[in-house]
Amino acid sequence: MYEKILVPTDGSDTAENAVEHALDIAEKYDAEVHALYVVDTDSMSLTLGGEQLDRIEQGQFDEMEEVKGKADAATGYVADGAASRGLDAVEHISAGKPHDQIANYAEHNDIDLVVMGSHGRSGVKRAILGSVTERTLRSTHVPVLVVDVQEE
Ligand code: ATP
Ligand code: MN
Repeated sequence: MYEKILVPTDGSDTAENAVEHALDIAEKYDAEVHALYVVDTDSMSLTLGGEQLDRIEQGQFDEMEEVKGKADAATGYVADGAASRGLDAVEHISAGKPHDQIANYAEHNDIDLVVMGSHGRSGVKRAILGSVTERTLRSTHVPVLVVDVQEE
């Protein structure tokens, strides 16, 4: 049933908490774990020039150290956790609107389950769900497990 599990991550503590749930399920099903970080081009449009945004959208951000560093750290956390449990992992970085990218990835890679956090990096708990999670739920028919912020 759960052969491929997608973990969209923005590298936040809440997303990392969701990773634990994803890996536990993956271990039980011997599932392949897919980690996806989306470079949110809308949120960067205020600080980056048009040319830089175009390059990011075309996936050419390898030499943009800050962008690449955040993305690699986020997906690497998932992949390391998977590897330490002996699970196969795939890391992917894309650019665009996070919920669109997450829904597209799930559809095109035969994902059986998406596991994500209720909130993310913005850290604002004004809403029950962060906007990326809410929009992902509206954009896909793949089952989504939403893991709430862990209380301390
Ligand atoms: P908002 O962004 O609406 O201000 P938030 O940052 O608290 O609120 P979301 O962005 O919805 O909440 O984050 C919820 C979950 O969505 C995260 O825990 C993570 O699993 C996933 N997520 C958020 N942003 C990204 C992203 N850029 N790439 C991949 N996954 C993401
Ligand atoms: Mn967010």
